[in-house]
Amino acid sequence: MKTIFERSRPGRATTLLPSCDVDECTPDEAYCRAERPRLPEVAEIDLGRHYAELARRAFGVCDGFYPLGSCTMKYNPRINDELANLPGFADVHPLQPQESVQGCLEVMARTAEVLGEICGMDAVTLQPAAGAQGEYTGLLLIRAFHAAAGDTTRTNIIVPDAAHGTNPATASMAGFKTVSVASNDQGGVDVEALRAAVGPDTAGLMLTNPNTLGVFDPNILEICAIVHEAGGLCYYDGANLNPIMGIVRPGDMGFDCVHVNLHKTFSTPHGGGGPGSGPVGCKEHLRRFLPHPIVACENGVYRFEEPEASVGRMKSFYGNFGVVVRALAYLTTLGREGVPQAARAAVLNANYLMHLLSDVFPLATKAPCMHEFVVDVGPLKEQTGFAAIDVAKRILDFPMHPPTMYFPLIVHEALMFEPTETESRETLDHAADVMHRIYEEAVSGSVNLHQAPFDAVIGRPDEVQAARHPHLRWTPDDADA
Ligand SMILES: *Cc1c(COP(=O)(O)O)cnc(C)c1O
Repeated sequence: MKTIFERSRPGRATTLLPSCDVDECTPDEAYCRAERPRLPEVAEIDLGRHYAELARRAFGVCDGFYPLGSCTMKYNPRINDELANLPGFADVHPLQPQESVQGCLEVMARTAEVLGEICGMDAVTLQPAAGAQGEYTGLLLIRAFHAAAGDTTRTNIIVPDAAHGTNPATASMAGFKTVSVASNDQGGVDVEALRAAVGPDTAGLMLTNPNTLGVFDPNILEICAIVHEAGGLCYYDGANLNPIMGIVRPGDMGFDCVHVNLHKTFSTPHGGGGPGSGPVGCKEHLRRFLPHPIVACENGVYRFEEPEASVGRMKSFYGNFGVVVRALAYLTTLGREGVPQAARAAVLNANYLMHLLSDVFPLATKAPCMHEFVVDVGPLKEQTGFAAIDVAKRILDFPMHPPTMYFPLIVHEALMFEPTETESRETLDHAADVMHRIYEEAVSGSVNLHQAPFDAVIGRPDEVQAARHPHLRWTPDDADA
């Protein structure tokens, strides 16, 4: 496929500008580029074809089943975009006077309020741009809390071994040392190992519940109590909030702060690295450390406010506002009954698919699961030589997005399915048929799965090369090469 730069021909354009009807002036040289920027010049039809070709090479929720575990790739209702595109939301400027954007501030205040209610938190910032940045924000709150108490010995963050990689990464970015605790044979936290790990150096615990195995930890109250008794705080990684939203609240489990991923649980786009949003909620004792500004309301008038001991800004302006509008649209559409109903449907769908697959793919944990489940391809690999990656590659031919592979790390040949609540029974049945067919192919040897996929645009890129030497930007030299 040619890049848009290679399609470019001098003088082609998609716009017709009216002739200039004011005096032309030459800007000060200090503000001018030394060279013209290399912008692609193409006709509108070529631009249209360029994007259509890109779209055909991608796979989204509107192309087929997308059970990418731990990512909650649920359908994003179109009404979210319609509302976010209203001129009052889309055409405002972040530096506009507050009195001229009261509606936008109200959207932020209401979203924060609803998220606070769902999470059982007292205050919420909408600023962080992703879950990982939310984790970082939460750890800064924890660090500020201990520092304000004059407690400088608390250098460790405890993270279970089933955790998402962002947890230890953000702990280290926030200046903490990560202490890993083992999982027990049910896939939850080993409570005795946790008890042994806490101490006067414990700043806090990071935990996602249900965890990345799709297991809700039955010891959660005890876990939070152990950390609190040691003087630490508990951070809830809310990436897996989908199966419990509106039913169980992290605040009631004992957590002090939490992030949620609007682009997972609250139906805003994941967007190829584009705008996400990871609002952070906290209990009263952390409120004064929140990033600024946050929206306050007095006598029906909304305004920005700076918490007294704020950790600072996490992002320019107010976070990804357009994403917040979409999330509020979703929350308002579902309402108080719809939110827990969606959570229950997510759990039902995951258990249904898990049941259909369990006769050929052994489960990594005992049933039932929450929103996602992990199958172990290890035995199939031993029997046939075909591994999780071969099964995942073959799935592409049907066409279906593969589940998450090789995660969590504690299951070596893991395939992690998360169907989400928006899939129909027919789709789940079809997915199960595909998985059975691939299993038969592997066992009978009728298809060499090492060579799959057979129909995808890109088959088996060199993943080590791609990870070690990513080539992410086209330059004119590439065209010459
Ligand atoms: C997705 C995810 C994260 C990170 O969230 P991003 O929005 O991708 O930064 C953290 N923890 C878990 C368990 C996740 O699934």
